[in-house]
Amino acid sequence: MSIVYDYIECPQCGAANQTSELCTDTGAQSFFCTHCGHTQQLAVVQREDGQPPKFDLKSAFGIGTYCIHYVGDVGDWIGAFIELPKDLDDLKQHVEQSRDTIVSAKYTTVNDDMSVTEHILV
Ligand SMILES: [Zn+2]
Repeated sequence: MSIVYDYIECPQCGAANQTSELCTDTGAQSFFCTHCGHTQQLAVVQREDGQPPKFDLKSAFGIGTYCIHYVGDVGDWIGAFIELPKDLDDLKQHVEQSRDTIVSAKYTTVNDDMSVTEHILV
């Protein structure tokens, strides 16, 4: 299995250099915006009746993301909010309880005009 990465502009918020992945074996594609949390997943569904494959596109509107860098980690933990304000309350509680192991923590929220505001927690 081979994965090809490309860097594209987010179709929701316009952030540049967001990662898009393509599996060259299956044709499946995925996209995640680290600014607004917009996601897209394209699956290729093979048919057994000899018909051409079908494409199944699932898309989620981005409402915000979080990014946490823990002590000793090389990279950051990045995820998308699914349900606000519950996810934001959970993030703030986690950061408060894990403060001794966190180097930095921040999150974004999407504004009505699709711009993104970054908030620093630590
Ligand atoms: Zn975006």
